Amino acid sequence: MSEKTKFATLYYYKNKKKMSNATIHSNLNPLDSMMKRFDEAAKIIGLDESAYDTLKYPAKIVTVHLPVIMDNGKVKVFEGHRVQHSTTLGPSKGGIRYSMDVTLDEVKALAAWMTWKTAVVGIPYGGGKGGIKCDPKSMSKGELERLTRAYAASMSDVFGPDKDIPAPDMNTGQQEMAWIVDEYSKIKGQYTPAVITGKPISMGGSLGRVEATGRGVMVCTRSALAKMGLKPEECTCVVQGFGNVGSISAKLIEMLGVKIVGISDVTGGYYNPEGISVEEAMAYSKNNGNLGGYTGGKNISNAELLELECDILVPAAMEDQITDANAGNIKAKLIVEGANGPTSANADKILNDKGIIVVPDILANAGGVTVSYFEWVQNRMGYFWTEERVNRRADRVMKSAFDVVFDTGKKHVVSLRTAAYIVAIDKVATTQKFRGVF
Ligand code: NAD
Repeated sequence: MSEKTKFATLYYYKNKKKMSNATIHSNLNPLDSMMKRFDEAAKIIGLDESAYDTLKYPAKIVTVHLPVIMDNGKVKVFEGHRVQHSTTLGPSKGGIRYSMDVTLDEVKALAAWMTWKTAVVGIPYGGGKGGIKCDPKSMSKGELERLTRAYAASMSDVFGPDKDIPAPDMNTGQQEMAWIVDEYSKIKGQYTPAVITGKPISMGGSLGRVEATGRGVMVCTRSALAKMGLKPEECTCVVQGFGNVGSISAKLIEMLGVKIVGISDVTGGYYNPEGISVEEAMAYSKNNGNLGGYTGGKNISNAELLELECDILVPAAMEDQITDANAGNIKAKLIVEGANGPTSANADKILNDKGIIVVPDILANAGGVTVSYFEWVQNRMGYFWTEERVNRRADRVMKSAFDVVFDTGKKHVVSLRTAAYIVAIDKVATTQKFRGVF
């Protein structure tokens, strides 16, 4: 561990006590949040009872217990899940997260969100999600590799390019995806890159995938600002979370001309009304492992960060950050949800009543799964597209999905969130009707 990393880790633990409730995983259940939105949209479109019941429950849940030899020679057993919420529109698609906060309910909610997300952007996938309850930051690379391979082996009959296609999520990335492809391919006796997306480029990963989710957040931000009649260069923005989604969203939104005045990660928030250089902050975070000790802005808590004076707020860390406890204090005019489920259902009404426009997660962060789909298409066809081509196609998908959701919102006089659920549920339910049930 470098001196800088040591300092950042120490800094984080010293400041952890200062972190407010909003930064610590709340006890709100993301599944309840998802179901409340689902119910509201289902009611508006008059979804019939059989379709409602079919879509309410996940199609398949697999839980595994994975014994892994740790570096100290002892065996530790980890719990992992894979939930396939729906395969109506195509093979289930969704990331795998590593976190001590992983619960089956959380994975179920995330899997259902994937069903709605793929339907909103119109790609031929259903929804799934995986998770392993572990603390990856405290594990060595060898331990992580053994855990990932154990998970891939025990899910080898669940995953498949035409069945269920995982991807990265919190605390997983290219390396974990590479181990999964390798393990899966060995078990199946043939190299199968299309079983997973978010791979390294040399293994069939797509150019543009790393930036895709943040890029989609930027396209939604740009589209929403235009509808609201706001000029990017006159706007300020605060981004919570500085991982893949948060940092890239911040960088691309800054490139629109917006001033980024606040950023944060697990070590806390950093506020500078004069503007933060996202490039500098990214370099700092890369060198230090996180933003701990960053001096480009005043150190504040994540809770304070969310309530800062700004035009645009991008929550891009984790679930339940905006709740009924703090929604009333949010000052942003526009919230673009980079994370999955950052707003709890009981905060929706408060934000709506305040006239805050919320571009919901199932639309705002769908750029990642869109480029994952492009990666899968390239793998299956043996293509390798240029980054320019990937970005152009992804931007087109995101822009047109935003417009459809916006128009649906206008038609039904509902929030963009309810509109996005209406678009998605309607699409899945209509297809389900064509396909039929037993
Ligand atoms: P990541 O692990 O790269 O980054 C997570 C960031 O959040 C880190 O900066 C971390 O320090 C910060 N964080 C963690 N706990 C926090 C807390 N309590 N308060 C403030 N910050 C905290 O993860 P990511 O891939 O950027 O994913 C972030 C969110 O976006 C998740 O909700 C994920 O499901 C969602 N998402 C990711 C993708 C993708 O392509 N990576 C796609 C769609 C949605």
